[in-house]
Amino acid sequence: MIIFRKDILNNIFFCMVFYFLGSLLVVIFMFWKEDFSFINQSQYTKDVFDVIIIGAGITGVSTAYHLKDSNLKIALFDRDKIGSGVTSRSSAKITYLQGDIYQRLKDKAKKYYLSQKDAIKLILQAIKKEKITCDLETVPSVLFCVDEKNRYKIQLEKEILESFGASTFAIRDSRVKDGFGIKDSYVFHPLKFLSGLCRSFSSNISIYQNTVVVDIIKVNGYYLLQSNQGIYYAKDVVVSCHYPFFLLPNMFPLKTYVKREYVNACKFPHSSNFTAINVDSDLHSIRFYHDYLLYGSGSHRLTNEIDFGKHYEDSRKQFKKFFGKTPEFTWDNQDIVSNDLLPFIGKIDHHLYLGSAYRGWGMTNGFLAGKIISDSILGKANPYYSLFDPNRNNFVLFTNSFLGTFHYMKVYIDSFCHRNPSYLTINGLRYILYEDKEHKKYKICLLCPHLKCHLVYNYYDKTWDCPCHGSRFLLDGTVIKGPAVFPLKKVV
Ligand SMILES: Cc1cc2nc3c(=O)[nH]c(=O)nc-3n(C[C@H](O)[C@H](O)[C@H](O)COP(=O)(O)OP(=O)(O)OC[C@H]3O[C@@H](n4cnc5c(N)ncnc54)[C@H](O)[C@@H]3O)c2cc1C
Repeated sequence: MIIFRKDILNNIFFCMVFYFLGSLLVVIFMFWKEDFSFINQSQYTKDVFDVIIIGAGITGVSTAYHLKDSNLKIALFDRDKIGSGVTSRSSAKITYLQGDIYQRLKDKAKKYYLSQKDAIKLILQAIKKEKITCDLETVPSVLFCVDEKNRYKIQLEKEILESFGASTFAIRDSRVKDGFGIKDSYVFHPLKFLSGLCRSFSSNISIYQNTVVVDIIKVNGYYLLQSNQGIYYAKDVVVSCHYPFFLLPNMFPLKTYVKREYVNACKFPHSSNFTAINVDSDLHSIRFYHDYLLYGSGSHRLTNEIDFGKHYEDSRKQFKKFFGKTPEFTWDNQDIVSNDLLPFIGKIDHHLYLGSAYRGWGMTNGFLAGKIISDSILGKANPYYSLFDPNRNNFVLFTNSFLGTFHYMKVYIDSFCHRNPSYLTINGLRYILYEDKEHKKYKICLLCPHLKCHLVYNYYDKTWDCPCHGSRFLLDGTVIKGPAVFPLKKVV
């Protein structure tokens, strides 16, 4: 008995030390300053805006859209092109039937349900008002399970939704154990939607593509934004860049995790149009776009795995097994999940706003985020502000964050221990030899410039990938996917 208690105490102590070390690691990285020498000083401009929106995915574009009729001078920045981030690779189902979310949210479920219904209404209104042609279609959404033991989840989700007033219909299909559907859901083309919104912008909104913001500093009540195109100032800043590239005041990395999913597509004749998702541990997500079937599978938490290449191959094999065809296209996409499953939307500091962590449901949540953030900037009340408050703290968030820190520590240690004979160690850091087309040789540092995780090789795409927060780099060290904003360090 005494030994047992001692064991528990030891474990609790060990957990606390681990959690403390994890937090300490994050705090140390906060003070790690990067080298800005790659910015061309001669290009420096000094524009001042009322609002700068960092990231032009559905969140950023929606925020600008909801501010377009204000008198504010607004800039919308994107490190690449409008919509080129997660939004461009989304399956773009617009639905409030989102897995088993309502049973998991418990007392917050009703408010979340209302928020999703309102978000759908807002999207439809914008499409109608701005006359946007974006392949919008009304198609039923289906929730199903393939495992007998998950039937109770289906029934519970159906009961909860019906108690909120949703009308559901039963489905019969020999391939599934149980399921139901709703009729008031939609699909569209996300990039056509964003392009239509941007076309409706008034002259108070300037769009800056290929503009990477690398740092934000507070100076005399204004935010100074350092970017590859120069310095900009703004009174209000909206962080809508998916995973924040800097550490927010509320310790974002400890309250969230990144989930990656693989999508396969090929031409597939079908007689009825619908979307579907299941509640089992192996994801099956279905959507049709014209003649094409888009099938999502292989969802995993980034911190569980470091063999990314294998996931591509597994997802392609699964597609072939289920649909009897080799996929024509395969891509991966990742979204952020908060530890209490609700997005983070709203003010995180004075005049600093965030919209993120949509758990794979960013069409509704991202568009709603734009409305909530713009209301907050304009001093208007919004009914969903408290539900998504990014500074909220609660028991679920705390305990899951505690467990989340273990995942990060584990993957940090795993990736550190992951050895390859071609790695070189210089001053304790891991490097790899790289030869460019001109046969010039470099040593490239394999530490992610974002939060210093050890990168792992993705043999499918031939990239270096961060197993913690999802940044990706070409073999020459060029960053192709954030949150990292800097290339990998090179030494000759
Ligand atoms: C496989 C998959 C399928 C999905 N399917 C659906 C679905 O069917 N329905 C649904 O509702 N949701 C779906 N989602 C979720 C949805 O796609 C996302 O939640 C949503 O697109 C996120 O939008 P965002 O604006 O936050 O991020 P993004 O679209 O990634 O936009 C962020 C933008 O910020 C820019 N940026 C990043 N860093 C910087 C910087 N430092 N400086 C300047 N710009 C920067 C990026 O270039 C990018 O364009 C899916 C997600 C995945 C992974």
